[in-house]
Amino acid sequence: MTILFNDFKSQWAEIAPSVLAACERVGASGHYILGEEVATFESAIARYCGVPHVIGVANGLEAIEISLRALGIIPGDKVISTPLSAFATTLAIVRVGGVPVYLDTDAFGLIDLDLVENALLQDPSIKFFVPVHLYGHSLDLKRIAELKARYKMSVVEDCAQSLGASHNGQSTGSAGDLAATSFYPTKNLGALGDSGAIFTSNPELDRRCRSLRDYGQSGKYQHDEIGFNSRLDELHAAVMKDALLPRLAKFTERRRQIAWRYLAEIKNPALHLVGQPGGSDSVWHLFPVLTDGRRDPFVAHLTANDIQTAIHYPTLIPEQGAMKNTKFATIGALPNATRFSRSEVSLPVHPFLKDEEVLRIINVVNNYSPGTV
Ligand SMILES: *Cc1c(COP(=O)(O)O)cnc(C)c1O
Repeated sequence: MTILFNDFKSQWAEIAPSVLAACERVGASGHYILGEEVATFESAIARYCGVPHVIGVANGLEAIEISLRALGIIPGDKVISTPLSAFATTLAIVRVGGVPVYLDTDAFGLIDLDLVENALLQDPSIKFFVPVHLYGHSLDLKRIAELKARYKMSVVEDCAQSLGASHNGQSTGSAGDLAATSFYPTKNLGALGDSGAIFTSNPELDRRCRSLRDYGQSGKYQHDEIGFNSRLDELHAAVMKDALLPRLAKFTERRRQIAWRYLAEIKNPALHLVGQPGGSDSVWHLFPVLTDGRRDPFVAHLTANDIQTAIHYPTLIPEQGAMKNTKFATIGALPNATRFSRSEVSLPVHPFLKDEEVLRIINVVNNYSPGTV
């Protein structure tokens, strides 16, 4: 039996009754856009994350775009970002006219905050930062808040992989002006389709984001600015609230258990387990392993043993074809990010893995030797 990287069938078997009940309720209500379901889902996830305001939107990409727009970004503004992330992080910046400024990551694959501080010192014209809490780890949130205050910049945290993660007890999404997340199906809180959300503790930014997601309206037929259609559906909000959000704590606990077993039991000199950065209470969206540079034989070994893997990410964002005709800057070399792009492999860490499967993965990984394939 193949061990899947994501197991949507097992998830469906568990959630189907609550999803179908939510669909019946919304269908019968006759109210499909921006009603009670969206409002109650927003309050429920706000409570879960400990942030006062949540705005449901259509996807994670637009959650970042709307956040940057709400903070007043204008074309040409520089935005510090990471070369190692889902392309959507950069896409959001570019789509609102921002100019991404890339810096190297640290040894965990997350943007290096020392380099961020250097860049801010050297270029006072940088006024935006989109930190990504990659792999489900949290960056140092206190440091981000300090940088934000000292250099008077606006911060949108990309929490697409970090819902529920914290740093020394503080939740990701609470250090920036705004935070964006995605409920893409593979995420820790994954919908049955696209959706996303924005988090903030600032009531004025909350109001701006609500207007921007709904054509820039302040009231019916009252259009104050050029907005988006980025509304979260009632149907999806109901499904998330009834079937998925109530299971998120349990799913996260299971991801953590699996990750800790890997960290304790995988012992192979040909591999480097990236582990958890100091201070981070991670939610293990992914479990990255670094090979010694020969990635293909390791992937082939796992595939031959019926274990699916993935790579996050094989190409650095500034090297993507779409960036050829796009304005951006890279400050310094990117040795850490490049190492991840060449040698990272993600092991399955989804919450439906059974203990026997976790053990099988550990044994297969421990039996790997680069010379045997
Ligand atoms: C998934 C993801 C996004 C984009 O979310 P979508 O809902 O797919 O638009 C943005 N940033 C990161 C880090 C992601 O993992």
